[in-house]
Parts: sequence; structure tokens; C-alpha cells
Amino acid sequence: MQTNNSRRKFIATVGAVAGGQIFLSPFIGKSTSNIFTNEPITVAQIIDRFIKDVPGGVLKQTVDTLKSGSLDMQVKGIVTSMFATVDVIRKTIAAGANFIIAHEPTFYNHEDAVEWLKNDPVYQYKANLLKENNITVWRCHDYIHRLIPDAVTMGVLTELDWKQYADKKIPNLITLPPIYLKELIKHLKIRMGIEAVRYIGDINQTCSRILMYPGAAGKNAHISGIEHFKPDVLICGEMSEWETAEYIRDARSKGDNICLIVLGHIASEEAGAVFLIEWLKEKFPSIKAQFIPSGNSLSFA
Ligand SMILES: [Zn+2]
Repeated sequence: MQTNNSRRKFIATVGAVAGGQIFLSPFIGKSTSNIFTNEPITVAQIIDRFIKDVPGGVLKQTVDTLKSGSLDMQVKGIVTSMFATVDVIRKTIAAGANFIIAHEPTFYNHEDAVEWLKNDPVYQYKANLLKENNITVWRCHDYIHRLIPDAVTMGVLTELDWKQYADKKIPNLITLPPIYLKELIKHLKIRMGIEAVRYIGDINQTCSRILMYPGAAGKNAHISGIEHFKPDVLICGEMSEWETAEYIRDARSKGDNICLIVLGHIASEEAGAVFLIEWLKEKFPSIKAQFIPSGNSLSFA
């Protein structure tokens, strides 16, 4: 659970409701009609409106598809989250909502291919839970990252209070006043509500130039980013130990000062789900929308 005070404060400032407080304001009794036309709002209308904001518009190839439910479903309430976990689905049902906008896959692979899972009891349980309760899940990943600037990155910069240090054209590139690696780690943990991070480097080393890739950008982005931008620190959501981490280890052995901080995927991108709440409140004020944290899947021992 991410119950850190600073994180709560951050979430409160953008109007979302965190953690255990969500049940204090269920969707019950809320009108779901459009305030201007009195027409019910469908899933399709919300998705179309979001895509209207995205430069380039509709993508031919995208993972941002419906994972359950239908486009013509009337929306009673919306939940945004990093993952539509079974727990998030249960909380959505309890809150009287029926539309989940999730950043990441529902069924354990990037494309949400389910053929290979059709006899799997975990898949079946989740798919049935969604079906029986008429919950529509839409993944909003490719579109939210294509907003200019990327709404996930901007959300993280706000969360970390780093907007003023970010490069105007490449907001993933941040130049901080010089800071010890240990202080940088402390800042990230406090602001993002993270219990522990993994890192490579000397904690007493001074850092300034940061390259930040929330999520799982992959070895090509990580390694070519380091090569191109020559940061003191790469901060990522997750990486493959045998790729990015080994590259950084070798770079340090060669004499470079590059450090690595691994935040965890969920913590690194959750600000995007919070952004969506703000967007929904502005564009569809008649529909109740809440951010429900999916929490970290992994514990530290
Ligand atoms: Zn992402």
C-alpha cells in the first residue's frame, strides 16, 4: 500500500481520493446523464473524446482496446487505475461504477491475447467477474503517452515537484541542483510513497542530470538514452536485470558515473491514472470518477 503522507497530499491536490477513503463517496445516486443534453454517456463517447485530444488521432495498431464490456454501455461511474486487478474490479463494483480505465494490460501480456489462457482458472475467474458484473475495461496506454507532452511524464514531474527543472522539449530530461544520490532516492521514496527502490551507484555521489523513463521503456530506450543524453542517473519504472542493469554495471567499471534507480513500474506511472481523473472531471463533470490505486504487487522482505 502507498499510504505515505506526501503521496496522499499529492493525490489530494489533484482531486482524487486515495486508499481507504474511496468508500466514503460511492457513486450511488449520481446522475450519469450529460449535463447539456440529458443523454446518457457511453463508453464510446468518453474514448472518442479522449482520442480527440491526441495528436494524430485514432491509431490503427494499438493495445488500447476494450478488455471486457462494450462501447455502447451507459457509464454509471469511472475508476482509473494502473491495473484492473481483481481487487480494483471488486472495489469498482462496490462503489457502483462500471467503467475501468487502466494503464496496463488486464490479462498478463501486452496485447491482452487470451487464447493461450482460455483454460486458465485465474483468467477465467477475472473474465467472469468482469462479465457477471457488466464492467467495461479500456486500456489507455498508447493514447495517454501520445499526448504532447506525455501526460504520464508530466504527472510524475508534478508529483516530484520537478517541472521547473525539466527540459522544455524533452521533459524526461531533468537538470536538478546537485544532489547526493542518497538524497535523490529519499526524495523519490517520499514523494512517490515507495517503500524501497533498487539502485546502482555510490550513494554519496553527486547527481544533477536525470533521465527519467517511467514504466518499462526497455533496454533500447534505456541504453540509447544513456548514450545520447549522458545522464548522471537513469530513473526507470522497471528494467530487465540482464540488460539495462548489466550495461550500467559495465559503464561504471569502465569509469562512467552513471547511476540507476528502479522505482517499480506501478509507482513510476501512477500519476497518469491521477491525470485521467482531472481530465474526466473537466470533460465529463456529470460522471463520478475516482482513482483507485492498484498498489504494488511485490513486497519487500
Ligand atoms: Zn505507460
